[in-house]
Amino acid sequence: MMDEFRIPDKIGDPLVAWRAWRISMQAVDGKPELLLHSINQKQGDNPFAWHPRKIMVGICNKAEPDHLASETPFESCGCGIHALDSPLFLAKAGYVSFIGPNREEFIWGRISMWGKVIEGTTGIKSQYAYPKHFYIRPDLNLTYSTDKERVELDVWILRDILTQQWGIPTTVAKTLKRKDSKSNEVLIKEMEEPETGGDEDGNR
Ligand SMILES: [Zn+2]
Repeated sequence: MMDEFRIPDKIGDPLVAWRAWRISMQAVDGKPELLLHSINQKQGDNPFAWHPRKIMVGICNKAEPDHLASETPFESCGCGIHALDSPLFLAKAGYVSFIGPNREEFIWGRISMWGKVIEGTTGIKSQYAYPKHFYIRPDLNLTYSTDKERVELDVWILRDILTQQWGIPTTVAKTLKRKDSKSNEVLIKEMEEPETGGDEDGNR
């Protein structure tokens, strides 16, 4: 059974928006751990990491000295956690291209956003966020290395690891394949469907 991650009750109704991450895998004590990083946003020289079962707190990526995490985002700055209003905007921004410039793998998802929130024309930025539902390609291919071997995990195991580690549903998109350029449209449709998108409580 999925041990669901709950965001705090007292925050009211969080907003929901879409984003993409780079995904990779490493071995921790011989067990696979999936790593999620922002595609664009950096913390110092490193891509901004998202951690399972930890509420994301926005930072100022311009490192403005007076932009405290407790006060982000600011209107005129790149501060805060960013997401887009629909999967279509993700595709238009180039995030549904299945593979990054360094051949890194991407995944997609809906996130809950709360705290200080600024709504733009195609997206939202917020002070706090946590993923609500992940979507992965059926041909997602990740490997990790232990002292002895290199291990490749199949997509259904990856789905279960994501679901268990993050405490949210993960959908393997039915028709999405990296080499099929029409998959963009299919992915967008599939992510917009209520039965795969989950209801507003994130249930399947
Ligand atoms: Zn800032």
